[in-house]
Amino acid sequence: MSQREIVNCTCPLCGADAAYYEIDYGERHYYKCPTCTKFIITDTAEKRIRQSGSTPSDFSGAAAAASKDDDRVLEICYSYGGSVPTGFSIKVVNKVDYRGI
Ligand SMILES: [Zn+2]
Repeated sequence: MSQREIVNCTCPLCGADAAYYEIDYGERHYYKCPTCTKFIITDTAEKRIRQSGSTPSDFSGAAAAASKDDDRVLEICYSYGGSVPTGFSIKVVNKVDYRGI
């Protein structure tokens, strides 16, 4: 696996100083935040949050709750429709499903 590049930026969920690295060939970002702990967010969902300037619901708290179990992490997605309803969705995923996090 290639060298992992850590990117420092503000957390899209709470605005704190955070850091992420890309997983899934950049499709997703794996964040570490002092407030939200850890979470995965798709590139699409992150752009959507940053453009709108607001987080749709308490994703920060949900992320912190999900990662209390060390093997699990919250994933935040955004869909523009199609087979699934348009909008944000969150789910708790197993870390083992994502290589290298
Ligand atoms: Zn945060």
